[in-house]
Amino acid sequence: MKEACGVVGIVMPGRAVSHLCYDALYALQHRGQESAGMATFQNQQITVVKDNGLVSHVFAETTLRALGGSLVIGHTRYSTSGSANWTAAQPVYRAAGASGFALAHNGNLTNTHELADAANVEFTSMLSDSDLVAELLSLEVDSGVTLDDALANVLARAEGAFSMVVLEAGRIHAVRDPYGFRPLCLGRLGTADEPEGWVVASESPALDVIGASFVREVAPGEMVTLTEAGVTSRQLLTPSLEGEKLCIFEFVYFARPDSYLMGHQVHTTRRRMGELLAEQSSVAADLVMGVPDGGVPAAEGYAKASGVPFGYGLVKNRYIGRTFIAPDQRARAAGVRRKFNPLRENIEGLRLIVVDDSIVRGTTTQALVAMLRDAGAKEVHLRISSPPFTWPCFYGIDTPNREELLAANHSVAEMSEFVGSDSLEFITLENLRAAIHLEGECCDACLTGTYPAPVPVALGARGGRW
Ligand code: SF4
Repeated sequence: MKEACGVVGIVMPGRAVSHLCYDALYALQHRGQESAGMATFQNQQITVVKDNGLVSHVFAETTLRALGGSLVIGHTRYSTSGSANWTAAQPVYRAAGASGFALAHNGNLTNTHELADAANVEFTSMLSDSDLVAELLSLEVDSGVTLDDALANVLARAEGAFSMVVLEAGRIHAVRDPYGFRPLCLGRLGTADEPEGWVVASESPALDVIGASFVREVAPGEMVTLTEAGVTSRQLLTPSLEGEKLCIFEFVYFARPDSYLMGHQVHTTRRRMGELLAEQSSVAADLVMGVPDGGVPAAEGYAKASGVPFGYGLVKNRYIGRTFIAPDQRARAAGVRRKFNPLRENIEGLRLIVVDDSIVRGTTTQALVAMLRDAGAKEVHLRISSPPFTWPCFYGIDTPNREELLAANHSVAEMSEFVGSDSLEFITLENLRAAIHLEGECCDACLTGTYPAPVPVALGARGGRW
């Protein structure tokens, strides 16, 4: 599974903020590595710089120095909608209104074709859903509507997931969809008595890294507007009657461990998932290890609760670029070897409990188990800190079709046989919820098939449930 973008917006009166935006985007690099971009406002003009590649590749020091202005928005992209080429990099710009506007989006809209048809806009596969929103906003702004009202009009018709930042002359708007599928938080530079600036970002570490304090999460359906004078809030869209539906996989896998979501530090919830998994499914073993990085905090929790020693059995290469869908098992094993290498002396002759965060197609897990056995592991017992992944995501996470999801088509015993483990257990949904202290406030559609927001009819949705 791949995350689908990170967004940032910063206002700091009297200061050029492109370097701050760079650091904040760097902290959100895990949310998308295909492209990075920024839009700044200076001298009544918006300037956009974006390109394919990592944040550090796209922005040289000279570029950052040239990007003046006290208002900036930024984006890191992983594509789930539209093309992955340069034209899909964000922010997207439209020359509508006095200064034009630039827009950056995390999420995925599920009714793009209906939106485009209703407005008579041609929507090709080369366009992203973010381009479409920009196009619809332009039509409104060109007809004399303010950008705030244009956002209200267009986003009221949009279905799906969006945490969006939009820059116009002197203002940054940050909007979260009525379900709050994707995270978005507000921070402050300076003190509460003497604020020096304001920040919005997908995750709280982007605030930490630039010395901003976390203020609060942007509420579902809310729009906060940042200007040099301060922050204002408007309930732009009616929040979902079911309450917030933040993606539960932000806790399991996507968000950084040092992020705070719904008041909980993500690392703490991952350790707790491991503890509950141990209580749920114990097995005699010599060592508990996590698959780096996602499985490590849960492995620590598992070891603590089970009394089995924790250790390291795999080293991960952190400099892997884009990976490809490997055509056969041999190529997949090569792909896994490129990413992981076993610590032979730590695992040789041992019965291992291996904790990972998820199984999607199962092919990576299969290659990983084979690698551990080749390195001398006597037994491999897999423990997974998310329930079986049985339904695709339509809200901004890139997942395979249902036919390719291992858990959608096989029993746990069959899955264990397929990946070659001695045993396999998944955390239950109740325990996952208990680990996050949830009372129903998260989306778990890919685990349950109950989709909170409508999904594309063409893909078989019936009344929000497949
Ligand atoms: S369907 Fe799954 S991956 Fe998608 S938003 Fe919901 S919980 Fe997250």
